[in-house]
Amino acid sequence: MTDDIPPNLVRRTPWPSSVSRAVGTPLQPSVVYASETPDQLDMQYQGQAKGYTYAREGHPNAEVLASKIDALEGATGGLIVGSGMAAVSAALMGLLQTGDHVIGGDQLYGRSLRLMTQDLNRFGIATSLADPTDVAAIAAAIRPQTRMILVEVVSNPTLRIADMEGIVRLARQRGIIVAVDSTFSTPRAYRPLEHGADIVIHSVTKLLAGHSDVTLGYVAARDPAQRKAIYDFAVTVGLTPSPFDCWLAERGLFSFHLRYDRAEENAARLADHISGLPGVKRVLYPLRPDHPDHNRAAALLGSRGGNMLSFEIEGGRAAANAMTRAMPEIAFAPTLGDVGTTLSHPATSSHRAMTHDARARLGISEGFFRVSVGVEEIGLLTRDFSAGIAAARSADRVD
Ligand SMILES: *Cc1c(COP(=O)(O)O)cnc(C)c1O
Repeated sequence: MTDDIPPNLVRRTPWPSSVSRAVGTPLQPSVVYASETPDQLDMQYQGQAKGYTYAREGHPNAEVLASKIDALEGATGGLIVGSGMAAVSAALMGLLQTGDHVIGGDQLYGRSLRLMTQDLNRFGIATSLADPTDVAAIAAAIRPQTRMILVEVVSNPTLRIADMEGIVRLARQRGIIVAVDSTFSTPRAYRPLEHGADIVIHSVTKLLAGHSDVTLGYVAARDPAQRKAIYDFAVTVGLTPSPFDCWLAERGLFSFHLRYDRAEENAARLADHISGLPGVKRVLYPLRPDHPDHNRAAALLGSRGGNMLSFEIEGGRAAANAMTRAMPEIAFAPTLGDVGTTLSHPATSSHRAMTHDARARLGISEGFFRVSVGVEEIGLLTRDFSAGIAAARSADRVD
């Protein structure tokens, strides 16, 4: 009975040959790679022959994606990892050791703050937070053991602009590593390595991949020894990206420039539109003259104000509920960088762990919203936000 089972069923069938080539990037999910001989494998491990061995140590789809982001950032040897937080973790934990001190911006991404305040301390790494818009505050936080400063160029959700020039100058004088999480600004607006930073980090999940269907991160270091330390740590603890996610992210990147430019244009126009609506207390957009850091934004980012804006409406939670309910086509979701516009409410999401007073100090009330502007027709966006903010106003009056 078993005679009719093809003898080669478990053997891989050779890939069909073709005189024409695929235009799309091949997706390679293989976990392992076969070498011809022990001699050849030896040469691969010695770096004398280029060859993949085991996917946790690297695979073609990750390499294709990394080289694309490298080109955008002016970096070499960038590493793709399984999430933006994997990239932050690899940079910090790959380079710091017991006894070191690291300074973080006081408005870092929530999980980065948590890594700084809850996890690094368990490994004997001391941390402090300071305001990166104020270089004197960063200087005051420096200790003899300070090894690294981690900042974001544009903060979440108040879109404050870090004093990158001042921080880089200060760090250079003291031999301190500057690591920049550039997720909000993207290489379209600011390339940290070109401005003297040592490490650049991205949540590729956001604008770079751009379609809310991929969770990935990227980290690149200027110094080869730091690059190797980050790589070794990432491979050891298994921060491996999935080939399929890398493949999707590469596809997302093909349209990154187009999406970014359109979303940025929309954001500037939507910020102006929202600021003129009744019931709006303030609008935050880095290039608007009423933004607290607009001069620095213009100096650092040029005309690249980005796709993010925030605004505050009058009223409390009831007004906020009425607003999101009245604009169902704008996804109320705690993310950013999607091709479509999304709306988030920091008081119940990214900043919910903070006390009411701490939030109030940042200006984050129940009426405070952050918008990640997408590439829709601007007329759709102005219509939806007008409707949402009008509904909030009615609800506020009823309260
Ligand atoms: C989202 C985000 C991260 C974390 O990225 P994940 O891909 O979700 O792990 C880190 N930094 C910033 C600024 C982010 O917006």
